[in-house]
Amino acid sequence: RIEMPYEAEWIIKKIRERGFEAFAVGGCVRDTLLGRTPGDWDITTSAKPEEVKEIFGKTVDTGLQHGTVTIIKNRRGYEVTTYRIDGEYRDGRHPDSVEFTSSLLEDLKRRDFTINAMAYSHETGIVDAFDGMGDLEKKVIRCVGCPRDRFTEDALRILRAIRFAAQLGFSIEGETYGAIREIAPNLKNVSKERIQVELTKLLTSAHPEKIAMVEDTGISPYVTGDFPLVFQAERERMAGAASGPEPFSCLALLPPEKSMRWAGFLRHMEPDMVRRILKGLKLDNETVDNGKAMAGAAQAPLGPEKAGIRRFLSRMTPYQFDGCLRLKALDKDPQTEEIRRLWEEIERDGDCVSLKELAVGGGDLLAAGMEGKEIGETLRRLLELVLEDPSLNRRELLLEKLRG
Ligand code: ATP
Ligand code: MG
Repeated sequence: RIEMPYEAEWIIKKIRERGFEAFAVGGCVRDTLLGRTPGDWDITTSAKPEEVKEIFGKTVDTGLQHGTVTIIKNRRGYEVTTYRIDGEYRDGRHPDSVEFTSSLLEDLKRRDFTINAMAYSHETGIVDAFDGMGDLEKKVIRCVGCPRDRFTEDALRILRAIRFAAQLGFSIEGETYGAIREIAPNLKNVSKERIQVELTKLLTSAHPEKIAMVEDTGISPYVTGDFPLVFQAERERMAGAASGPEPFSCLALLPPEKSMRWAGFLRHMEPDMVRRILKGLKLDNETVDNGKAMAGAAQAPLGPEKAGIRRFLSRMTPYQFDGCLRLKALDKDPQTEEIRRLWEEIERDGDCVSLKELAVGGGDLLAAGMEGKEIGETLRRLLELVLEDPSLNRRELLLEKLRG
């Protein structure tokens, strides 16, 4: 017996009372069997969307064209989707058409992987038509049906396979793996945004080193034109090193945050390249900025010397500087410990590291007769002096410097 949230039980019960079938399905069944906490509980039913709406009264139309109605219960949404057979996926994302069916088996058949194609209800128990349980035990990702056909229908499944392998620590079954290599070029038709969402889930998972599969499966040129360069650079670094550590296994040491893991993956690329890759994959501006700043700073020469550290701090956020040090630590930079210690001293002493903390402001310079661009430039010049020597950060001293 699988424990499920009361709300999911309640929804299934209400649908069954009207004479329809209803099951928890997909990720929630998989995760529960693995002892992981499911993100959400999806329900699949023989009832048509109109019938689901009629049963529950208050529902939200979140994907009517795909047969999905969302029921809000105790402030959480539960997606209830009618059993369906998917038409062709011409855009590689959504089926062009869907056909409702009264057969649970048909609905399970359209799903991507055996471990995602199990249904459960208290009354019926686990419905497992494709040996998803066996594959959970073997820890493999295997397509439902013929892998080549399934990836041809929807190339995004290629990235989903690799992403689930990373999240669950599974491997990809041989025939499924072979089909990935073969159908890889179809990823051209999948939007960069959808590709990125899967890669971000992969990189922030427990097994970010599985990003290497993007190279091994041959899909990397279809992610972005620049992606193969990242793997090439890492291969060259490995060849140059005496003992070759796996280039990506250390990523798991970074906090599982989007910016951190992307910056870690790209940490040996030029900052402009980091930016181009992240922008090309439609990452949000914050992640693009963080990635570029962290990777750039991690490569720049930075020794255990306070003035230099203050200069870095004046150009980035504390989060970015922390990230930069984490990246340096990944590459076993022996000075990171000492730099961190000096950073703590800088914080403790309240050294000025930004224009905001400078003892003179724009108003002072206006009063001294300056205007326009000159003000900004002068403030920056004064900040440079103070970054070098924090004891100079006193109003009279700085104004005197200006006069002199
Ligand atoms: P997660 O924990 O990431 O939410 P999930 O298995 O719930 O994992 P979803 O993307 O939420 O994944 O999809 C829910 C279910 O819908 C999957 O378990 C799978 O059965 C099915 N599914 C989702 N995307 C596809 C797809 N592209 N092709 C076939 N089936 C899919
Ligand atoms: Mg889900």
